[in-house]
Amino acid sequence: MNAVVERFIPMAATKTPSIEVRDVALRYFTPEGETQALDRINLTVGAGEFVSLIGQSGCGKSTLLSLMAGILEPSSGEVFVRGERVKGPSQRVGYMLQQDYLFEWRTILDNAMLGAEIQGRDLKQSRERAAHLLHKCGMGDFLNHYPRQLSGGMRQRVALARTLVTEPEVVLLDEPFSALDSQTRLAIADEVVEVLREEGKSVVLVTHDIAEAIAMTDRVVVLSRRPGRIKSEHRMLFPSCSNGRPSPFEVRSLPEFNTYFSSLWDELDVHVEG
Ligand code: ADP
Ligand code: MG
Repeated sequence: MNAVVERFIPMAATKTPSIEVRDVALRYFTPEGETQALDRINLTVGAGEFVSLIGQSGCGKSTLLSLMAGILEPSSGEVFVRGERVKGPSQRVGYMLQQDYLFEWRTILDNAMLGAEIQGRDLKQSRERAAHLLHKCGMGDFLNHYPRQLSGGMRQRVALARTLVTEPEVVLLDEPFSALDSQTRLAIADEVVEVLREEGKSVVLVTHDIAEAIAMTDRVVVLSRRPGRIKSEHRMLFPSCSNGRPSPFEVRSLPEFNTYFSSLWDELDVHVEG
């Protein structure tokens, strides 16, 4: 679980970026009026890079993920995934949410198969891949169990395996651990990062938790209050760790962790709102 994950050096300069958000604004229109959720967003996520988005509740983090997932269309600007303009949901992008949306009447293996079935993929191959991923996520002994027999952390591991079965290039995580207790969060963060790095995914993580952002990602992007704009970006480097990229758990005991935490805390202005 605490195995050191090899430091991945993003090669954004030589490879097509996984995600490019160009000058994006998003306005919601409701009977009560117009809400400008995002403004002038420019963001690039390199191949294999892990980026987190943090900011006050309501600053547009989930909206930005929905734009990357093709669930929402920008009011202006453009979003690209691997150089192709996003025009709707695509198989290249996987989405994992706080709620796991597992079907209670399906076994764990059948739940992990859901996306593959919907996409009409080869069932035999997908079943093998689902079983393999469930093993990797530590759920190998539970393939024939039902969701109600699992803890919250185990259910999220299944949700991760289900997201990966369809082989997305980009994985979007929207507060995936918010419903879990703090010890489970620490353990699952390590496992999730390990699996996603091994699979070579590019990742965008939305979280309320500054520590989680520092521990899990290569770059932390801070959004300002509504309308959400990019306030600052911070690259997470850990020179005090000599053997590659430290695991999320290891990051928390490094001296750089406290430095990053204080500067992100100041950026977020958390103390003003409490
Ligand atoms: P976050 O994920 O950072 O908490 P959201 O992206 O969910 O923020 O929301 C950004 C802003 O847009 C909020 O003010 C929210 O109320 C508004 N908003 C989100 N979804 C909708 C919607 N479907 N219709 C109207 N307003 C919305
Ligand atoms: Mg949100």
